[in-house]
Amino acid sequence: MSNIAGNINKLKSQIPASVNLVAVSKTKPVSDIMEAYNAGQRAFGENRVQEMVDKKDELPNDIEWHYIGHLQSKKTKLIIPFVYLIHSVDSFKLLSTINVEALKNSRIVDCLLQIHIAKEETKFGFNREEVIEMIVSEEFSDLKNVRIRGLMGMATFTDDNDLIRNEFRYLFELYKDLKNRYFGDISHFNEISMGMSGDYEIAIKEGSTIVRIGSNIFGER
Ligand SMILES: *Cc1c(COP(=O)(O)O)cnc(C)c1O
Repeated sequence: MSNIAGNINKLKSQIPASVNLVAVSKTKPVSDIMEAYNAGQRAFGENRVQEMVDKKDELPNDIEWHYIGHLQSKKTKLIIPFVYLIHSVDSFKLLSTINVEALKNSRIVDCLLQIHIAKEETKFGFNREEVIEMIVSEEFSDLKNVRIRGLMGMATFTDDNDLIRNEFRYLFELYKDLKNRYFGDISHFNEISMGMSGDYEIAIKEGSTIVRIGSNIFGER
């Protein structure tokens, strides 16, 4: 028997009230999402466009859908009508596509910029120089239908807690630096999405405001 509600309640008791919990439901059936929903959970994370669209159609309207996976520009239009927050913006091209689709939907879509902080080459995201180059560009300031809410990062998948801590620390320092230099007067630049099942405790200590947790809630995938 699954204990999704129990897992959520346990996590909520461990996580400070100021940190948002996104329940990562990728690969899990809508019945599992409903169990979490009935336990009061409203924020869910998915990493495949079609899967998120299909689940959204079957589930209550007050769910906040967080897109956390690599997003291809050509599939963006499918999620723009309803997505709550896109955590994984990793190129200007993608951001500009989101902006176009958001305008068509008369929306301003909240986005996080994904920063590559891990040792693994496979993880997507900007590095420090790339993200600054984009932020200072004129094309960036022309995007009126996206709202940059902060940064997202994934640490290296490792047992080395010092390495994980250093990567999260790097992300937090970059966040503070960008906030001071480029978003100072913009109070909505205030989110850092970092921390998963294996490393959320470290992430919270290092300043995370959003944790994305899957297996600790729904079990192994
Ligand atoms: C799958 C996934 C998670 C959740 O991972 P767990 O280890 O199951 O908690 C978080 N963030 C991203 C981007 C993911 O793809």
